Amino acid sequence: MMSNTSLIQLSLSQASQALRQGETSSVALTEAVLSQISQADGRLQAFLHVSAEQALAQATSADQARQAGGTHHPLLGIPLAIKDILCLQGMPATAGSRILQGYRPVYDATAVTRLRQAGAVFVGKTNTDEFAMGSSTENSAYQVTRNPHDLERVPGGSSGGSAVAVAAHMAFGALGTDTGGSVRQPASLCGVVGFKPSYGRVSRWGVIAFASSLDQVGPIGRTVDDVALLFSTIAGHDPLDSTTAPNPVPDFTHGVSALPDLTGVRVGVPRQYFIEGIQPEVEAAVRRAIEHMRALGATLVDVDLPHTEYALPTYYIIAPAEASANLARYDGVRFGSRQAETDLWALYEQSRGLGFGAEVKRRIMLGTYTLSAGYYDAYYLKAQQVRTLIKRDFEQAFQQVDVMACPTAPTTAFKLGSKTNDPLQMYLEDIFTLPASLAGVPAISLPCETDSQGLPIGLQLIGSAFGEARLLPIAKTFELTYQN
Ligand code: GLN
Repeated sequence: MMSNTSLIQLSLSQASQALRQGETSSVALTEAVLSQISQADGRLQAFLHVSAEQALAQATSADQARQAGGTHHPLLGIPLAIKDILCLQGMPATAGSRILQGYRPVYDATAVTRLRQAGAVFVGKTNTDEFAMGSSTENSAYQVTRNPHDLERVPGGSSGGSAVAVAAHMAFGALGTDTGGSVRQPASLCGVVGFKPSYGRVSRWGVIAFASSLDQVGPIGRTVDDVALLFSTIAGHDPLDSTTAPNPVPDFTHGVSALPDLTGVRVGVPRQYFIEGIQPEVEAAVRRAIEHMRALGATLVDVDLPHTEYALPTYYIIAPAEASANLARYDGVRFGSRQAETDLWALYEQSRGLGFGAEVKRRIMLGTYTLSAGYYDAYYLKAQQVRTLIKRDFEQAFQQVDVMACPTAPTTAFKLGSKTNDPLQMYLEDIFTLPASLAGVPAISLPCETDSQGLPIGLQLIGSAFGEARLLPIAKTFELTYQN
C-alpha cells in the first residue's frame, strides 16, 4: 500500500488509475487528503468547512461500489474540494459573506449533482472573496488564504481556496467559478491548471449568483487531463439553467489526446496583451512558452483585438450592474443572518449593512447607479454595445487562428495587503482574463516558469466559443513537451 505522502502527490488521473488497478482505496485517498488538510490548512486557510465524516462515508460507499465490480466513472472515490459559492447539500454555503452565515442549502448545484452521480467524494468547501468579488481572496469575510509558495503572498482569487487546496495537495481537484478570471488567475498564481469553459457549457443552477451573464463554473487541477475530466463530467445542457447550451460536450473522461506536435496549429499572439505594466519576467516567460509552441511546429500569427483596452471598464459596468440586481435578494428575511427583528425597515438596513463587506457594497452602489434612470443608456447600454465589439474581435481573430496565447495575469503572486486599499490596482489583476469572459470563450491557465522569487507564472490559452475540443489537446501537447 502507498504511504499518505505518496498518495497525495498523485494527479487526479493517476489517483483514478491507482483506484482502478486496486493499488489504493478511496478511503485511503480520503484519509491522506484529510491528514494533509489537518497538517497544512492551519497555515494556508484554504477551507471554510471540512467534512471528514461525510467524506469518509462517501469514500466507503465508493469502495463498496468498486468491489461490487462492473465499470465505473473515473471520478468514483476521488476526493474533491468545492468553492463555497456552489450549493452542496449537507454543508454550509456562505459565498465568503457574513450575510450567508448559517445558511445551509437544501439542494446541490447541478455541477455538484453531476460529480456526486459520478461518485466523487467532497472533502469540504473552500474560501472565496465575498460573492466572488476580488482577485486575492482577501475579501472573504472569514479568513485570509495564503499562497503555498510564499505564505506572505495572496493565492489570487476569487477561487483562491480551491487553487490552494489543489496546489497544496489537500484535494485531487476542485471546482471554482470564473466571472472575470477567478479560476484562471488563482491557478496562475498558485502554479496549477485552471480552466474556464465557454459560457453556456456548465449549469449555473445552485451557484450563488454574482454576474449571471458572465458566471461560469470551472475546474482546477494539477494537469490538463484532470481539468478536462472534471469539465466533461459537469458540462452539458441543464433544463434548470436556460443559458446552458444544447451542444454535445466533448468526452474527456478518459483523458485528452495530445497531438504528435503542433504542426498546422495557428497560435495567435494578441498584440494588446503585451503591454506596459506587465511584470517583465512574466512577459519573458510567456514569450518563451510561445516560442516553444513555434518550435513544436505551430505557426505564430500576430492578431489584433482592438477593443481590449475597453474590457476592464466594460466589465466593471456590467458585472456590478448584474450583481446589484442579484444581491437584492439578501434582505435578512429569507437567507442567512438577520439583524434588528423588530422593525422591517431596520431589519433590511442592518442585515445588509452588517452582512455585506466593503467591496460588495462598492459594487452594489456602482451597479445601482449605472442602472438608474438617466444613466442606464450612458453606462449600461453603452457597456453592452462595447461588449459586442469585444466579442466580435474574438470572432474575427478565430477566423485566422486556432488558439491565442498570452499571460494569464500581469504579475506573479503579490504581497498580502498590498492592493487591498487600491481597488483599481486589484481590478487590473484581471486585465488579461476579463476579455475572454466578456466574449464567453473558453480559456485555460497552464503553469509555465517561475520568477526569480520562485513564484509560478501562468500561460493563458484562449479558444473559440465551444472550441474546447480544439483547445484542450493543444494545451495538453504544450504541457507534455514544455520543460521549465
Ligand atoms: N476579480 C474580478 C472581480 O472582482 C473577477 C472575479 C471573478 O471572476 N469572480 O470581479
